[in-house]
Amino acid sequence: MNFLINTIVKEIGAQSFGVFDDFIVENISIDSRSMQNNSSTLFFALRGQNHDAHNYIAQLIENGVSFFVVDHIPDAAKGKANFLVVENTTLALQKTAKYYRALFCFPTIGITGSNGKTIVKEWLNFLLSPDYSVVRSPRSYNSQVGVPLSVFGINENHDLGIFEAGISSKGEMSKLEAIIQPTIGVFTHIGTAHDDGFDTLEEKIVEKMQLFKNCEVVVLQKNEVIEKYIHQPTFTWSFDDNSGAVFVEVLAQKNNSTSLLIHYNSNSFSITIPFQDTIAVENAMSCICTLLYLAIDENTIADRIQNLYEVEIRLQAKKGINDCMLIDDTYSSDYQSLKMALDFLEQQKFYQKKTIILSDIFQGGLPIEKLYQKVALAIQNNKIDRIIVIGETISKYLKDVSNLISFASTAEFLNRFNTESFQNETILIKGARSFNFDEIVVLLEEKKHETVLEINLDAISNNLNFYKSKIKPGTKIMVMVKAFGYGNGGYEIAKLLEHNKVDYLGVAFADEGIELRKAGIKLPIMVLNPENGSFNAMIAYDLEPEIYSITGLQAFLKLAQKKNIASYPIHLKLDTGMHRLGFESEALDELISLLKNNNFVQIKSVFSHLSASDDVAFATFTELQFERFRTYSEKIITALDIQPIRHILNTSGIFNYSEMQFEMVRLGIGLYGVGNSEIENKNLQNVSTLKSVISQIRIVNEGESIGYGRKHRVEKPIKVATIPIGYADGIRRAWGNEKGYVMIHNQKANILGNVCMDMMMVDITNIDCNPSDEVIVFGKNPSVIDMAKQLETIPYEILTSVSQRVKRVFYR
Ligand SMILES: *Cc1c(COP(=O)(O)O)cnc(C)c1O
Repeated sequence: MNFLINTIVKEIGAQSFGVFDDFIVENISIDSRSMQNNSSTLFFALRGQNHDAHNYIAQLIENGVSFFVVDHIPDAAKGKANFLVVENTTLALQKTAKYYRALFCFPTIGITGSNGKTIVKEWLNFLLSPDYSVVRSPRSYNSQVGVPLSVFGINENHDLGIFEAGISSKGEMSKLEAIIQPTIGVFTHIGTAHDDGFDTLEEKIVEKMQLFKNCEVVVLQKNEVIEKYIHQPTFTWSFDDNSGAVFVEVLAQKNNSTSLLIHYNSNSFSITIPFQDTIAVENAMSCICTLLYLAIDENTIADRIQNLYEVEIRLQAKKGINDCMLIDDTYSSDYQSLKMALDFLEQQKFYQKKTIILSDIFQGGLPIEKLYQKVALAIQNNKIDRIIVIGETISKYLKDVSNLISFASTAEFLNRFNTESFQNETILIKGARSFNFDEIVVLLEEKKHETVLEINLDAISNNLNFYKSKIKPGTKIMVMVKAFGYGNGGYEIAKLLEHNKVDYLGVAFADEGIELRKAGIKLPIMVLNPENGSFNAMIAYDLEPEIYSITGLQAFLKLAQKKNIASYPIHLKLDTGMHRLGFESEALDELISLLKNNNFVQIKSVFSHLSASDDVAFATFTELQFERFRTYSEKIITALDIQPIRHILNTSGIFNYSEMQFEMVRLGIGLYGVGNSEIENKNLQNVSTLKSVISQIRIVNEGESIGYGRKHRVEKPIKVATIPIGYADGIRRAWGNEKGYVMIHNQKANILGNVCMDMMMVDITNIDCNPSDEVIVFGKNPSVIDMAKQLETIPYEILTSVSQRVKRVFYR
C-alpha cells in the first residue's frame, strides 16, 4: 500500500501538528509491539476499554516511527514527531480505510452470518485463487478494527476482494459496509451466536443485511424470514424448496464425505464434499453458489470442491522438542499473513533466538521479484536469527539473505535436517498448504499424549482489566504467578503481564523467579518464601525477597554486607491473623532496631495477607486484620521514616474490600478466571480448558464391568469411550464412578468406574462420536468451580494439580 498522508487529513477531520508534506504511508499499524513499525509507518493510537496505545508512543518514536494519529499528544512526545489529532482514533482508522478502499474498483465479496464467515472466506479464496488475484481478510479479521486493517492489504494488482464482517451491536454494520464496499453478498448462517447486542432476532437480521445494501446479488440458503429483509436480487439454494436458483439433493453421506446432486439452470451435476457434518456442507454450498454466480463451470467447481480442507483459524504457540516453542501456521502463505505471523512471533517469543521456516509464497497481485523483496525486508526487520526456506522459488529469490538455509522440498528438509540443531528457540513454521508443513510440526513438536491444557491469553487480559476497574488508576498491581501461574504456565503468562504493564510479579520460591528471569522477564519479582540458602541466587537474578522473620532478615543482611550491596529491595510481611508467615506485633521493635540506619536493604513494601477475604461472614475478623495491618505498618513507617508500598488485598479482597487497596493489590486466582462470587464470575472469562480425545470406543454388554475393581457394573448394553487422561494428569479419583463427567460434542458423558493412572472410561451410549473426537475435561463446562464444589475442594487445587506432563497450548 502507499498513499500520501495529506490526502487523508481532511478525510479524517484531523488537526495536524508537524511536517507532513510528502510523507508516503507504506504501512499502517495499531500494534506497538510489531517490529515492522518503521519510518514509513502511520501509527493509529487506538483506545480500548482497558488499553490505550498512547502509552506506547514515546517508545515507538524511539523505534523510528514519526507519524501518528492520536486523540491527544502525550506531553512527553510533544515536538518529537508528527501528529494528526482527531476525536476518535478508531473512527479515523475506519475513515482512512474507506478512503483507501475507494481507490480500487473490482468485484468484492462481503461475507457475514453468525458463524462460518472465516471458513467460507478461506474456502472461497482457495476456490477462486486459480482465476483471480485475490485479496482477503487475514484470519478472522472481521471487527471494527479488523476490517479496516484487512482492506489496507489491497494493492493495484488485485482483481477480487473477499472480506468478512462481524458485528456485535447495532449500527456497526453500516460502518463495515462503507469500508468493504462489497458488490457480491454472501450470508452464511443465522444463529444465536453473539446475541448480546441485539434485542430480537429480527433486529439482528436487519443490522446484518446492511452489509448488502449496495450489492448486485446476495447468496444465501433459502429462508423466508431472512429474505423479507433483503432488498437486493438474491441467489438462493435449498435442500427442500426448488423455487430458488439452486436445488440440492443429498445422495450419500459416509466416510467423512457427502455427495450432492445439484440442480441449477435446468442442469444437474454431482459433487463430493470431503466433510460430513451439516455445517460444513452448508458452508460449502455458500461457496458453490458463489462460484456458480461467477459463472465458473461445473466440472471445475466439482474438481476444486473435493479438495476443501479444515480451516485452522488460530495461530497457536506449542511446546516443541529441546525446549523450543513452535508457532504453527501451516495453512496459509501470503505476504499479509506472513507479516501477522511475524508480529505474533515477536509477541510470543519466549526465547530470544527466533527461527522461521517458510515455504514459497503464493500470492497474486505482485510481481514475483517485488514480492520476495518485501518478504526479505520483513524478515530482516524482524531480526530473525535463522531462516529456513523450503521451495525452489523462495530459495532462488531469497538466496542473498544472510543466515539462510534452503531446501528444495519439504521431503528434503525432513530427510536432511537434524532436529538436534533446534534448541531453546522460538520457531515460526509457516507454509502454503501444498507444502505439508504439518509434517515438520509433527517432527518438532514435543512428543506428547493427546491431552492439552489450552490457555486463552485474551481471557487473561480481560480478567486483569476487570480487577483493574475495581481499583483506582494509581494503585499498583502485583500478579501472583506462583505454582507455574496457578498451573497455567509461568513465563508465557508473565510475558503477557509484562506487556499489560502490571507492576510486580509474585512467585512462591526463588526457582520460579529464576525461571522467569532466564526467559527474559524484566518486571520486578517478589519471592514469597525465600529459603535462606537461595538468597545468593536471588541477588544474582534480581529477585526481591519477602522477609518474614528476624532470622531471615539477619541472614539476608549478613549476605548483603558480605557482598557489599546497598539498598537491596525487600518486602516485609506482617502477620495480622493468618498465622502462616510474618512478623507479629511482639517482633516489631527488634525488626525496627535491626533496620534502623541500615543501608544494605531498602523496604520496598510492607504487606500482609487476609485469611478470609472471600467470605463476608468473616467481615469482622477481616476488619480486625486491616486494623492490625494499619497499626503495625504505621509503627514501622514512623520509626524508620520510610514510604513503602503497602498491600494486603488478594483477589477476593479486591472484590469485597476495594477501599483497603492501599498502594498495591495482589491479584491471583481471579486472573485465571475464577472468582469467589457469582457476580465476580459473570465478569470473568474462562482461561483454561483441559482437553483430551477419545482413544477407543466399544460396546460393553450387561453383566460385564468397567475398569479396576469392577466398580461399574453394566446393567444393559452401553457404549463406552476410553480417554487418555487419568489421576497422574491431575484428575482426582474421587471424580470417577459417575460423580464427574466430561463433555463430548456438548453432551455430558459420565465417568464410569475408577479413574486409572493414565486413562478413564466414559459413557457415550447417547452420544454420536468417533475415536479422536475432542473431549472437554474442564473449561466452561464443567468449570473448575463446579468440579471443586463437587469434590469438596477449591478451584486453586484443581488448577494447580494439572500435571506438568500435560502440554500447555496458548492462543488468542
Ligand atoms: C497466593 C497469594 C495471593 C493471591 O491470592 P488469590 O486468592 O489467588 O488472589 C496473594 N498474596 C499472597 C501472599 C499469596 O500467597
